[in-house]
Amino acid sequence: MEIETVKDAFEHVAKKQKLMSSKAIDLVNHVEKEIEQAIGVILENGTDGDVASNLNHEILLNLKNKLKEMVPVKQLESCQKEMNNALGKWVKTTEKFFIHDISQAYRNVDMEPHVLSEIIANHLYCEALFDIGDNFIGEASCPASKEIKQLFQKMYEIHGALRTGEPEPALSWAMKNHDALLQNGSSLELKLHRLQFVKILKEGNRCEALLYARAYLAPFATIHKDEIPRLIASILWAGRLDQSPYTEFLLPTNWENLAEEFAQQFCNLNGQSSTGPMGMTVAAGGQVLPIILKLMTVLTAKREWQSMKQFPFPLDLGREFQFHSVFICPVLREQGSEDNPPMLLPCGHVLSKQSTVKLSKNSSRSFKCPYCPFESLTSDCKQLYI
Ligand SMILES: [Zn+2]
Repeated sequence: MEIETVKDAFEHVAKKQKLMSSKAIDLVNHVEKEIEQAIGVILENGTDGDVASNLNHEILLNLKNKLKEMVPVKQLESCQKEMNNALGKWVKTTEKFFIHDISQAYRNVDMEPHVLSEIIANHLYCEALFDIGDNFIGEASCPASKEIKQLFQKMYEIHGALRTGEPEPALSWAMKNHDALLQNGSSLELKLHRLQFVKILKEGNRCEALLYARAYLAPFATIHKDEIPRLIASILWAGRLDQSPYTEFLLPTNWENLAEEFAQQFCNLNGQSSTGPMGMTVAAGGQVLPIILKLMTVLTAKREWQSMKQFPFPLDLGREFQFHSVFICPVLREQGSEDNPPMLLPCGHVLSKQSTVKLSKNSSRSFKCPYCPFESLTSDCKQLYI
């Protein structure tokens, strides 16, 4: 079922609610009008004398009959009933669409509460929710991650300036981290200089632009052989860059994109993930949750799940969740670990340590590689580090 179905069902309820509400309001207004009219006539008649009294009695009787004919309570009840029916249908639709009981997929994980609190606090800081993070730390009485907070405060300060068209703080950070950025293969510093350079060009100051290019762009000439000549050529269009072949230098999205790139590099150089460990875990968990819930339906007892050391089949989480290469032993079909690392055989094939030990009957004899005729000893195998 598509999310559209739930949306449509909700819109139907909302429509019904509006209709029923206006019906009810009309009815109440009608009743009010009838009563007001009756009061008006009674006031006109006055209350003195038998004639007036008889007339008023008749008016009240008429009013009573009119209200009886209208059966307002019944009408209101039927409005409410229609509304409840529509609402009930929507609840059923959403229940069908959403798996509301995800508790089946829970596992008991031993985790120190203060570690979890620290992860949550760091996540709040990472999302620039500094006040909430401080409050959380106070309430959870967990040790404050002052350094993390200061780090992200600094990052968001520079990030904010960059988004509003001020490249200076980001530039001074990038220049300080020149070597590390180059080592990462990042061209952030050049891109920031480019923004500053374009800013000068836009103002039409050709001489200043040339001086800036000599001082700050020239050092990148050997690495960015295509980019630098284009930037230099754009000096000819100082003051009218919008009519030049280099209009892409003026795109407002350049600032936005660069702010994101800066945040990523900043986190990278400071050993942090730009989405934070918690954001990453929740995103990855959200991806695999439907699969885990499906697995729960085939597992005979929940105990099996609780005692399971690893998943019975591999789960592909996509490139954004892969951080290092993974070795799967072709014999055991298990992922390598610290206890069972990959071993390079003299023939060049790689097996897990446990496989080599098994094949060599506990390292007591030489064994034949499963992929080629080469015979090896476990002592000749070399551990690989990934
Ligand atoms: Zn081999």
